[in-house]
Order: sequence, then structure tokens, then C-alpha cells
Amino acid sequence: MEKLKILHMYPNMLDLYGDSGNVEVLSYRCKMRGIELEVSKHLIGDKETDFTQYDIIYLGGGADFEQQILADDLVSCKDSIMEAYKSGTFFLMICGGYQLMGHYYDTAAGVRCAGVDVLDLTTEGAEERMIGNFAFETEFGSVVGFENHSGRTYLGKGVEPLGKMIKGCGNNGEDGTEGVRYKNTFGTYSHGPVLPKNPQLADLLISLAVKNKYGSCTLEPLNDDL
Ligand code: GLN
Repeated sequence: MEKLKILHMYPNMLDLYGDSGNVEVLSYRCKMRGIELEVSKHLIGDKETDFTQYDIIYLGGGADFEQQILADDLVSCKDSIMEAYKSGTFFLMICGGYQLMGHYYDTAAGVRCAGVDVLDLTTEGAEERMIGNFAFETEFGSVVGFENHSGRTYLGKGVEPLGKMIKGCGNNGEDGTEGVRYKNTFGTYSHGPVLPKNPQLADLLISLAVKNKYGSCTLEPLNDDL
């Protein structure tokens, strides 16, 4: 059977607060169920990446500095990323990576980082950062994490958030929304990283990707007591 394929974008630049742990958790939880998984990387300058070849594309969070450095490379991949999105590839995007999948991120210092326009959302930086442990409610239960961002994200009309804030700021500290769940995309401001703390989200993503690839999916429950 063909392996499930994950593309980890810019692992050396988008890895705030251990965000790469999300890929480790996906790998571990697949391995425990006997699902073969292959993780590839996209780094700045990799011209050959064909984004349509992957089942899940993952982007972690990063500081404004890193976002500015990689923005040009990301935009150069825009067409292939869009093709992958349209063909049903799943996306998990954290904080800085989430912001760049929208139209743009304007930093508090006034620098525009162009996004790839996959999602109808924009992000404006402000001097006051939104920092702290937070929690939000989703259709698959409560999600906990840690947020630290200057960007305020505003979703376009018809774009659904991932959840509603219980505690903390989320997308913008104003409208009570957090992240995005639109078609095959999942975006969140939750670091920590998010998947080890919220294994139900990891399994949702795995089951959707497996179902999409092989037609059906039943995941054995794992012991998540720890
Ligand atoms: N640099 C972005 C911001 O401050 C994203 C930060 C992050 O990924 N935590 O809004």
C-alpha cells in the first residue's frame, strides 16, 4: 500500500515552541496503527517540490524575521500549493504558517509578507502581542495551547473558524474566533505544540487524510492518559 505522505515546510525556520513536535505526533500515531508514513521537507530554494504529491502539508509558526525571509520562496510555490489545496490535500498550519496561507501579513513594523491566497484571510500586526495559555471549543472538543502573536487575523466571509474562544485571544482578540477550518485546511494560533496536547485533533487529521487516500479509515484508540 502506498505510504501516507506529509510535507513539512521550512522545518528549520517555522518551529516556534517545538511546533515540529506536531509532525512527530502524526508519525507516532500513524506508526501505532500500522499506517506507513513518509515525511519530506520543503526548504527555501527547493524548486522541485510538487505539493500535489502530499496528503498533508504542514507549516509551523515563526517570528516575523523568519516569515520575511521565507515569504518570497513561499510565494514562488503558490501555484503548486493552490493545486494541492484544490485537489484535496489537507493542511495543518500554525500561527506564522497559518498567517502566510492567507492574502498577507502586515507586521507591526510595517513590512508586508505576501501570502499564497489559499485562504481568504488577512493579518495585521500590532505593537501589543497576544500571549498566554489559551483554550477554545471546537466540534471535536476543547483544544488547549499557548499563543504568542502580534498578528490579528480576520477571516473572510464564509470562512469558518476552527473554534470559539474559551480563554485567551485567538484570531484577533475581538470576535471570539480561533483559527480556521475551511474545506481541507486547519489553521490555529495554538503552539505547545498543539497535537501532543490535543490528540483528538491529530487523529481527526490522520483519519481524514487516510480516508481521502484509501477510501476508509478506522483508527484504533490509543492510550492518551499521559
Ligand atoms: N510572527 C507572527 C506574529 O507575531 C507569528 C508568530 C508565531 O508564529 N507565534 O504574529
